[in-house]
Parts: sequence; structure tokens; C-alpha cells
Amino acid sequence: FTTSSKKNNFDGLYEKHKKIADVPMKTEEVMKAISENTLFTWNPSATAAASSIVMERGEGVYFFDKQGKKYIDFNSQAMCSNLGHTVPQEVIDAVDKQLKTVAYAYPCGLVTEVKAKLSLLMADLMPGDLNHFYYVSGGAEANETAMRMARLKTGRHKILARYRSYHGATLGAMGLTGDPRRWGSEPGASGIVHFMDPFPYTFSWGSTEEEICQKSLQYLREVISYEGGKNIAAIFLEPVTGTNGILKPPAGYLEGVRQICDQHGILMVCDEVMNGFGRTGTMFGFEQANNVIPDIVTMAKGINGAFIPLGAVACRDHVAAHFQKSPIGIGSTYNSHPVTLASAYAALQYFLRTDVLGNVHRMEPILQSLMEDLKKRHPTVKTFRSLGLFGTVELQKNSRGEPFVEFNGPAHPAMAQLKNDMISNGLYTLVRFSSFFTNPPLIINEKELRQGFEILDKCLTNLDK
Ligand code: PLP
Repeated sequence: FTTSSKKNNFDGLYEKHKKIADVPMKTEEVMKAISENTLFTWNPSATAAASSIVMERGEGVYFFDKQGKKYIDFNSQAMCSNLGHTVPQEVIDAVDKQLKTVAYAYPCGLVTEVKAKLSLLMADLMPGDLNHFYYVSGGAEANETAMRMARLKTGRHKILARYRSYHGATLGAMGLTGDPRRWGSEPGASGIVHFMDPFPYTFSWGSTEEEICQKSLQYLREVISYEGGKNIAAIFLEPVTGTNGILKPPAGYLEGVRQICDQHGILMVCDEVMNGFGRTGTMFGFEQANNVIPDIVTMAKGINGAFIPLGAVACRDHVAAHFQKSPIGIGSTYNSHPVTLASAYAALQYFLRTDVLGNVHRMEPILQSLMEDLKKRHPTVKTFRSLGLFGTVELQKNSRGEPFVEFNGPAHPAMAQLKNDMISNGLYTLVRFSSFFTNPPLIINEKELRQGFEILDKCLTNLDK
């Protein structure tokens, strides 16, 4: 066993880094250290326009860069900063108190009061008998856990998930993901079969909502008959599809999936990582349907406004009963971390006290009418979709409705220009393929919403030219 003494000679290192820590960096210095000392995992072309922003501080629905330039956040970052960029004082106090009392507790054997209290609150927020919670570090881990639970509970190995979906960046969650982000991780987790949801890219299931619903459900039944209902542990879906288009399923679809699951003893797993906690106008996306209670629900993001990493899995009594008899047996170091649970407990109380869901209801029609105006005013706007404060605008390059960028197609300079224009006019959002998102923090007010749309109007006027 040899260790280079040079490598472990840290003499003077504390003093060196103390100096660095105490002096603010300039934008160029930050960018230099970032480019030399960090690993990029994102597609740089997708983020190029925004990559020169060094976030300096946040306030409400805004954030500021090092030059003091102000940006309105029209995507809540990754559709997760639902409470905006000012951390509510009660969240700061709760985290501070937790750090000063129990900063960590080994989840294998030890429990905390904050875990008990948060779980009581969560059980009251969720419908039906979704009364049992398991806390992890993010959305992907929640989906990994749900996948494992479904297989253990049913003793079956196959999982169905939809092509038009995103479920996270770990191996199993990438395997669940249907969109092309999966390709780079293949061959990944085994036993996952993808099926088409009611919104295929180039063909149509029909012309009416009823027909689309019935045909896509019939197709799902066919997939199940070929895969064998008795082999399928779970069907995973985002109730309202998120990054792949803000798509609310046709009336009856989620009810139909629930029925199919019941017929075959398949568990219905709803990925509420993006939908959950008010984004769609209901507390959970599956509540857009009538009396659909999934067997397992995965959550993250809005559970605590993303101030500290946290994900959760909820399950119904019948699922929990299985794990009371045969516990999963493994967990991770950060399961039920008391500090992040304290942040969620306080954030959810803030959510209730300030009636964030009520604000979503008040802003929903305003967002809708601002979207309608945008479509009327700009020939490059092909269509838009929004529910709650969950919206997207699809763009077209000509009156034939052709997109600037096909689904997963090569970049188009007009889209990079649009993103640059947004940034230089002080609006931050995600531009994806031939669309952009309108997903502001759920605490946004009418004036701020209108201000964001004034910037979008200006940028689209440039795009129209
Ligand atoms: N599921 C959905 C629907 C998501 O939108 C995301 C992230 O955007 C995830 C899962 C993954 O969550 P995380 O990035 O916290 O792992």
C-alpha cells in the first residue's frame, strides 16, 4: 500500500482556499473554473445561450446574474422552483432548527419526529389510501424505488412505460424513459417495454377525443396480450406528460388505464415528479381524472420547491401491506434525511398557509388568455397548450405548420436566436425542439405573468420576421 506523500501534502491548501472563499469571483473567473474543473453532461448546444449566466441570487420569480441583470424565470428552472427563488422564512427556520437538533439519522433503525409529521401531512394531501411514504433524494431514485417495489410486490418482471415520457437519469429511470434521452444509456435496465400514449408524433389515433382515447387504450390492451398480463408488474406514466409536450390525456384515458391494470393485477404507477403539488391546477396530475387512485406515486421537485434534494414514493395500503411482511431490505444513506424532510414539511405548510393552489387557479385563465393573444399575434405560433401553470407554445416556420426543429431533429439557428433573444430581454425558459415552455413559479402574480408575456411577444416579433 503506497500513497504518494506529495499527493497528500495539503500544506498551505487551507490558506489558499480560504482566500478564494473570501473573495467574490468575476463572471470570467467562474466560467474558467467551470470549464476546466467540472464535467459537462448536458448537450452544450442546447444550453449555449444560457451558459454564460452565473446565477448570483434569486428573489421571487426572478433571478439575477453577476452583472445585476434580472431574469424572470418562466420555467421554474427545471419546473421545480415552484415556490420561486426566495426561500420562505419558515423553511429557513425549520432547516436551521433541524441542523441544530438532528442533522442526520441512520434510516436503518432510527426514525425522526419530522419524518412522522411530514408523513401525516402527506397522507392528508393525497387522496384515497395513499398513506405510506418512502423518502429518497430525487425523482429518478423515486422511480427506481417504485420499479423495484412493483416487481417485489407482484413477483413479475416486466414494466410498461410510454415512449413519450421522461422518468429520470439513473439507469432504471432512463430505461423507463421513452424519449430519445434514453438512447445514450442503452442497453440499460431490462424488462421494460414501451408503448405509445394518446399522442404519437406522426400518426393519429383518430379525430375525436373519444376515438383517440379508445384506440390508444385498445392498443395498450394488445401490447399487454403480447407481453402477457401475468408477466407485467406495473405501468408507469406521467399523468400529464411534461417535458415531452404538456399533454393532458383525453377524457377517460387514465380511468381506462386504471381499469386495464385492475383486470390484470398490474400496478398503476403515476410519476408526479413534475405534475405534483399544484403544477397542473390540481394537487396531483392524476386528479385531473375521475376517481383514479394509482397504486404507487412518485414525487420530487414541488414537494419542497427544490430547495434541498428530495424525492418520495407513496403507496396504497395493499402495497404497503406487502412490504410490512417482506421489507425491501435495502435503502440508501440519504433515505429520509431529516434536514430535507424538515424543508418539505415547512414548504408544504407554507404552500397551504399562502394558498399556492388557489393562486394557480387564479393565474390559470390569465395564462390561457395570454397564450391565446400570443397565437393571434404571431404567425410563428402554431399552437399552445396549458393547464394550471403548465404550458408550452409550439412554433412553426411556415403556414404549412412545419416545425423549426423536428422531434429530436438537428438544431435550427432560429431557435438558438430565440433563446438568445429571451436571455437578452431578461426571460429564462426552456426552448426544446420547436417549442418553449411557460411554467413560472406557482407564486407568480398577474403583473409578473404579463411582464413575461411582453418579453415573449417581443421575441416572437423578431422570430416572425
Ligand atoms: N420524472 C419526471 C416526470 C421528470 O420530469 C423528472 C425530471 O425532470 C424526473 C422524473 C427525474 O427527476 P430528478 O431529476 O429529480 O431525478
